[in-house]
Amino acid sequence: MRATVMYEAGDVRVEDVPDARLVEPTDALVTVTHSAICGSDLWPYKQLEATPGGRRMGHEFIGVIDETGDDVRTVKKGDLVVAPFVWSDGTCVFCREGLHTSCLHGGRYGVDGVDGGQGEAVRVPQADGTLVSLPVGKDDALMPSLLTLSDVMSTGHHAALSAEVGPGKTVAIIGDGAVGLCAVIASKRLGAERIIMLGHHDDRIALAKEFGATDIVEERGDEAVERVRELTDGLGAHSVLECVGHEESTVAAMLVARVGGAVGRVGVPQEDPIPEGTRTFFDNVKIAGGPAPARAYIEELLPDVLEGRIEPGRVFDRVGPLDDVPDGYRAMNDREALKVLIQP
Ligand SMILES: [Zn+2]
Repeated sequence: MRATVMYEAGDVRVEDVPDARLVEPTDALVTVTHSAICGSDLWPYKQLEATPGGRRMGHEFIGVIDETGDDVRTVKKGDLVVAPFVWSDGTCVFCREGLHTSCLHGGRYGVDGVDGGQGEAVRVPQADGTLVSLPVGKDDALMPSLLTLSDVMSTGHHAALSAEVGPGKTVAIIGDGAVGLCAVIASKRLGAERIIMLGHHDDRIALAKEFGATDIVEERGDEAVERVRELTDGLGAHSVLECVGHEESTVAAMLVARVGGAVGRVGVPQEDPIPEGTRTFFDNVKIAGGPAPARAYIEELLPDVLEGRIEPGRVFDRVGPLDDVPDGYRAMNDREALKVLIQP
């Protein structure tokens, strides 16, 4: 079969790899119908050192189950399924607490003999705990929005929950990528009164407004912090959603949080220390977040997508076949594309 392999920074190829096949009785074999390139795939695209044999890529996908292992019970051959960006058993202590990203028997796609999502097929371990069947056909117009449940929409929702977004709250969202835009949708969905988006790209800002952003801050660094404070009578935002992970954006997140507010971090941190520790300590700012347990959120968000109340699939601004993946990485890295949908 054909799949995406990254060999080092800037070197992404679609090439022949061994066919996906069942290994464990808890596996399902999924033929991928829709996949995506993630903003987090751009970190190795910028930084990966030469990797002999390469690294299989992709962790967001929808597909049709071709075959299941003998122990698989809740999904079956022929089901159209969405996969969260990590696989999990759904039964361990952390899964039962809704933290499937920390599953004791789970793992990531593209490593340890598990296929990546940017390919023709994937062996999905722990299929019962991982996959969610979709009540639509694979050509349904909702497919882009359903695909975002795999990662970006669930991650935006996680940012909002971590930052305690709710009715009457003022929210600040740092980052106008796909996750930041989904965070706007999530914040509006949870009843935020005011949604301040910090971003710099005209097309993304336009989409943020359509999704429910009420104020836009285009300044950067200290000036952006100043502007958010002006917009909030000098107080800052109750809920701050950090959707980038850079040091500068994380500093801004800590500085625009109101006294007693909360910061939800979902951008993968590129620095180990959390900045502004003294400020957030004395102002009782709560700091939460991490990788989103997408599996815990899919069932909650699914009805909103199916009934058209939210349209996170609008973050995709480019669609292509599997062979388009290498240029899709380049386009996202060059900010020519916001998010690329792949139809193998
Ligand atoms: Zn588990």
